[in-house]
Amino acid sequence: MKAAETVDSNMNGQLTLDRVRIVLSRTSHPGNIGATARAMKTMGLSRLWLVAPASFPDPVADARASGAGDVLAGAQVVATLEEALAGTVFVAALSARRRELSLPRLQPRDAVSELVAWSEKGDVALVFGNEASGLTNAELGLCSRPVTIPTSPDYSSLNLAAAVQVLCYELRLAALGSPGRGAESAVLPQGSHVPAPATHDEVEGFYAHLETAIIASGFLDPENPRRLLPRMRRLFGRARLEKEEVAILRGILASFIDNK
Ligand code: SAH
Repeated sequence: MKAAETVDSNMNGQLTLDRVRIVLSRTSHPGNIGATARAMKTMGLSRLWLVAPASFPDPVADARASGAGDVLAGAQVVATLEEALAGTVFVAALSARRRELSLPRLQPRDAVSELVAWSEKGDVALVFGNEASGLTNAELGLCSRPVTIPTSPDYSSLNLAAAVQVLCYELRLAALGSPGRGAESAVLPQGSHVPAPATHDEVEGFYAHLETAIIASGFLDPENPRRLLPRMRRLFGRARLEKEEVAILRGILASFIDNK
């Protein structure tokens, strides 16, 4: 208990781990939800989000959570991944497989230094997929960066809660070491005026606006979209849009539509 208090309050006075959402998407087995709650609590995390779980609440989840029933009781259950990510400024997607058009994959340690740094600006999330099918391309498209736990090439798929444990452990190490670690200086712009990153919903609003505008202009044929929108997501994902930049881009789109 004492150790957790030290970790959670030593990051420049910020409750860093409190800003981390662990998001499980479309989990099939309630046992994995319970085991996730336990993995989180042992590492000092508490904010569990469940997107369309097959069965929750469930006595199997309670049993597997053991002493982490409070994390389960506080879990937010939502219907869509968009709802779980609303308001976040950085989202890591946990994926065992390489997908077409994905951004370069991070290893957990690097992903976690980015998460810890972004957590000073707002909420951050780690998203885990369904046990059988993993994350869909649409789900991956909503996330800032894919993260892969390096495994044996013979078998790369960890149990869901085991994958959560690896990331939560890395988060704890990062939070413990953060004051002298320079995570912020390593990955975020420095200076007196550090621009505010756009939130997940602001960036999604821009993508929706872009899609409408390029359909209206005739550039995108909705019957034959090819891979245009995923490519645009990848481009702007690399750019890490700031609030002001989203406003400018949307202003540009609006000017095209209004002046047609
Ligand atoms: N058969 C699925 C694996 C699902 S395992 C697939 O091929 O994608 C359930 C979830 O655990 C995954 O969606 C992912 O979020 C996480 N996971 C399992 N192994 C992982 C690994 N090696 N790296 C990153 N995430 C992993």
